[in-house]
Amino acid sequence: LAQHFLQRIERSDLNAFLHVDAALTLRQAAAADERLASGDSTALTGIPIAHKDIFVTRDWRSTAGSKMLANYVSPFDATVVDRLGQAGMVTLGKLNCDEFAMGSSNQNSFFGAVKNPWDHSAIPGGSSGGSAASVAARLAPAATGTDTGGSIRQPAAMCGVTGIKPTYGRVSRYGMIAFASSLDQGGPMAQTAEDCALLLSAMAGFDERDSTSLERPDEDFSRDLQNDLRGLRIGVPREYFGPGLAPDVEQAVRAALAEYEKLGATLVDISLPKTELSIPVYYVIAPAEASSNLSRFDGVRYGHRAAEYSDLTEMYKRTRAEGFGEEVKLRILVGAYVLSHGYYDAYYLQAQKIRRLIAQDFQQAFRQCDVIMGPVSPTVAWDLGEKADDPVANYLADIFTLSTSLAGLPGMSIPCGFGQGDKNAKRPVGLQLIGNYFAEAKLLNIAHQYQ
Ligand code: GLN
Repeated sequence: LAQHFLQRIERSDLNAFLHVDAALTLRQAAAADERLASGDSTALTGIPIAHKDIFVTRDWRSTAGSKMLANYVSPFDATVVDRLGQAGMVTLGKLNCDEFAMGSSNQNSFFGAVKNPWDHSAIPGGSSGGSAASVAARLAPAATGTDTGGSIRQPAAMCGVTGIKPTYGRVSRYGMIAFASSLDQGGPMAQTAEDCALLLSAMAGFDERDSTSLERPDEDFSRDLQNDLRGLRIGVPREYFGPGLAPDVEQAVRAALAEYEKLGATLVDISLPKTELSIPVYYVIAPAEASSNLSRFDGVRYGHRAAEYSDLTEMYKRTRAEGFGEEVKLRILVGAYVLSHGYYDAYYLQAQKIRRLIAQDFQQAFRQCDVIMGPVSPTVAWDLGEKADDPVANYLADIFTLSTSLAGLPGMSIPCGFGQGDKNAKRPVGLQLIGNYFAEAKLLNIAHQYQ
């Protein structure tokens, strides 16, 4: 299996992988073979996986898609990498992503954009663009991703694969290069919900090295896959079907909802009135946390350091000017501004208050329904090069994924058809499933019954 995927990676021109080391992978594969022969194996032993380059790895470089960490090798493995390794999974390498996971199109990577396997003139989505593209193109049977405001769900949707962002705190953030710590959450991306359930069961669990890790017993997320959906109440938020939604996406999503009705579910009209506010709220809170998290990249402890400088202050300045890309700098500026004395109350504190109201809206909605469904993204994947220099256009496209993250709820994307691509190529559409806290097993069940 490892050989098969390594060959496919070698022949691929999607720019999905940033670091591959075949000898290392094959050594892990040989160890997995031994485990299989000895009978000390799990369902995942010997199955290859690739990791978003936000997870640190001891044996492969960990760049976060940034020049700042272009040659960085971590002295330890992230908990997620470690847990999947313990299960016997074989690492294929590291996957391209937007710099420090900031982006929706993978065009903010220092290492260049990734192509969408369905249509090479389209973006794969982001920030986990390499993860989604590698699974869609069968360069890897599974990949890890991280989702701060949609980065698992949106690229999964745009590449036609399945991904789940768990409840905040389910999956350890230890060794996940931090973007916005109160939002960051790792999760699996694969072909099916069934595969995601297996992967999540291995990834999730309490970790004392992550202070926001949830102290809950380990779960088998595959346990409910076969439950039937009769009587399921699906909340359909009015605000997710407004004028901003592209007709081709709406059509595919509504067809999926009709399919769920055939499986015995009923559709309930619900309202998530603060949906629109999720954009300004997220783009205050996430940059604020990022400006603090990224202060550690100062040329002293990690990664890039400017070659020439006259004193310590100039070393900091030059290092950060050279090492960070445009979007990262923009967010550090915004973050430092909204946290500064005099503006904190006006921006950051207001955003935190509205964040609480957004979470309350979901709790209100879950009194009327068991799961919420809607589009992941207002459009199918856009063209490579499009919106590349327009941060706000990218931010607006996150409208349907941000509020789930702000509330800390689990969310999923599953493929539900195709919209209109350009040049006769297909561009996938994703259906979003949002559950209440800890409802991952239920979400995976609902997804599996559709697939
Ligand atoms: N697109 C959002 C952003 O740019 C979300 C990214 C993410 O989830 N990592 O911040």
